[in-house]
Order: sequence, then structure tokens, then C-alpha cells
Amino acid sequence: MKLPWYYVIAVIILFLAAVAVFDLFQDGPGEGDVLYQVSTIDALMQSVYDGIIPNEELKKHGDIGIGTFNGLDGEMVAVDGNYYQIKSDGVAYPVKDDMMIPFATVTFFEIDKTILVEDAGNFTEFTGKMDAVLPSSNLFYAFRIDGQFPYIKARSVPKQEKPYPLLVDAVANQSVFEFHNVTGTIVGFYTPQYGKGINVPGYHLHFITDDRKAGGHILDFSIDEADVKLDITPEFYMELPTDGDFIGVDLTKDLHKELEKVEK
Ligand SMILES: [Zn+2]
Repeated sequence: MKLPWYYVIAVIILFLAAVAVFDLFQDGPGEGDVLYQVSTIDALMQSVYDGIIPNEELKKHGDIGIGTFNGLDGEMVAVDGNYYQIKSDGVAYPVKDDMMIPFATVTFFEIDKTILVEDAGNFTEFTGKMDAVLPSSNLFYAFRIDGQFPYIKARSVPKQEKPYPLLVDAVANQSVFEFHNVTGTIVGFYTPQYGKGINVPGYHLHFITDDRKAGGHILDFSIDEADVKLDITPEFYMELPTDGDFIGVDLTKDLHKELEKVEK
């Protein structure tokens, strides 16, 4: 059977149109530019600790990130697509797919900018140096710092039982771990001031050792010299609980004083 020439041309045009339409969808938001967040920091501050998505789902949205687990059971660090749970014993355990996540921030890490940071004696000095060189204080960023750190003070929180205490009370029982001249990876995010209530304004950093065996939420640290790798994440996707404690919790309060206690 011989097809008429115009028929062949029509099929080719339809095929090209289909490819173009497909491309259009592909050229939507690049997954590396999307900051994916589960719940809000103020909900976590007010005891919304029940997980809402399994880690299997979370990891589809990022290969780097931080967060916590059902019942506030430790600190999450994700790096290179590997998710770890640092429990209150200070040990980093691999996260199982079915573990439920109440709060997390993840993204697919793509380096947009590398900043050399020298002689940051503590967290405050790091903040000052970074603030001076961030492309804008109005964007969200993901960070990754690999290197040797003179000092890191990290913490983790023990699993909480219902009725859940407020986060500020739960961290009163935190375990604190100190590392000296430790090699590892710091992972975290910068949230603009206007993001308060949603995430931690400023720098929220977690740490995991080079052997991926220990770490925690960073309370303080120092840097002699390290490359801070920055991923600008101009798109934001938030997954909120549709049932449970989130539904009735009062999210109108200004919790920044309590948050400062929790973070530092
Ligand atoms: Zn944290």
C-alpha cells in the first residue's frame, strides 16, 4: 500500500506537534529549582508531630534535605539521595521507606554558586559572612558544605509520646553532641525573613559525619576554610496535612522567641 504524500506530511506534522507539546511540559519548573516542604515550622513548634507522608514519597522530591520523623524521633539529614535519621543516641540510621515524615525540606541539589568562607568562629559569624555575599536575602537557598570543621555542636531530640509537648519543651530533653576537627557534610537551607512561620528564617543546618554514622541539628559550629555550595531554589512547593492536629492548631501566633530557643 502506498500512502499519499500529503498523508505522510500530515503524520510528520502531527508527530512534531506532539513532540513540541511534550517538550513544553518538560520545560516546566525544573525539579532542581523546587524547594519541597512538608508542613510548617510553626505547626512543628506547636506539637504537630504525626508524620503525613512516607519517606518513600519525600525522597521523590529531593536528594538533599533536613527534617524530622514521626513523634519528633530524631533529626533528618539527606545527602546524595541517602536519607539518615540521627536519633537521640547520636547515631545516624538509614531511613526506611515507610517511615512517616511530619516536617521536612528537600530539593534536588544543583550548584548555582560556590562561596569560599574563611575564619567563621561560630554560627553568628558564619551568618554574617553569608548574609554579606548571598545574591539576595529574599530568595530561598539550599546549602551544602563538605569539609573539615574545627568544631560542631549538634543535637537530636528523643521520640515524643502523646499528648505531645510543645517543641520548645521537647528540646529541653535534647542530646547534645560535640565534634572537634570533624570531617563531614553540612546540609541546610536559608529562609528569608518573610518565610517565618513556614520555615526557620535565616540558616537552618544539619550535619552528618563523613562516614555517615553521626550528626544532628547544628547548634553551633566553626569553619577555618570551606566552600559553601549554594543552590538557588526560586520555586516552592508545600505539602500540608489535611487531617490530624494540623487542622485545629492556631498558626496565627508569633513564635519567633520560642523558635530562637529551639534552634540555638
Ligand atoms: Zn533542624
